[in-house]
Amino acid sequence: MKVAVVTVGDELLAGRTTDTNATWLCERLTERGVDVERITTVPDRIGDIARVVNEYRAEYDAVIVTGGLGPTHDDVTMEGVAAALGRSMVEHEDALAWLEEQGYSRQDLTEGTTELPAGAEALHNDVGVAPGAALEGVYVLPGVPAEMRAMFERIEEEFTGTPAAREVVVADEPESALLERIADLRERFDVSIGSYPGEAVRIEIQSDDEETAAAAAAWLRERVDGPDQR
Ligand code: ATP
Ligand code: MG
Repeated sequence: MKVAVVTVGDELLAGRTTDTNATWLCERLTERGVDVERITTVPDRIGDIARVVNEYRAEYDAVIVTGGLGPTHDDVTMEGVAAALGRSMVEHEDALAWLEEQGYSRQDLTEGTTELPAGAEALHNDVGVAPGAALEGVYVLPGVPAEMRAMFERIEEEFTGTPAAREVVVADEPESALLERIADLRERFDVSIGSYPGEAVRIEIQSDDEETAAAAAAWLRERVDGPDQR
């Protein structure tokens, strides 16, 4: 399954907030074997949100959108998603009923709180107030990290795939010195390889098959200088 993540918020683009939601979602999705193909951040603008949601919906199996859900004037994500899908925004009885069960009355809620794109399934918010929505493969989650995480956990079963077997080999050598051995590794084993230099070079080996990944990692560990390889 291929998925795109869209995070919404002027504050993300201005560098005032670090996009931990995207990182968290990518980690959880990858663990489930889902391929995340895009992370895109857009401003709180209906047109921009609608444009990327539309494009990614056509391209990927699902689009997860976070941020800009509340009923305040700067929260326009639901309108953007509704525009992308050609839906109007309507009062969602189920979302309202659930909030009433939690002890909110209609009067407590800021106007617009329970308006969602017509035909959407409401996603309940266990941590905050604003409901999320799911429709046509687009999932709209809150921006507040704790709310986003709790809501994702309600829907995560819908995201499936085959997790890749992954091995890490650490090499205490300059990355450029490793090129030939990595090319050799690639020829001998049916694996994908990522090389991430830092203080040492982290070489990540992935395969659909656990034995292949383990054999490739063992082959490489014998041929690089490094700390006790795990
Ligand atoms: P609310 O209903 O409280 O307004 P919301 O769903 O509208 O929530 P935002 O207004 O977009 O969410 O963001 C609320 C707060 O959540 C931000 O001030 C920021 O601290 C945090 N936040 C939003 N997006 C992200 C993100 N992608 N990564 C990490 N934190 C985020
Ligand atoms: Mg908000």
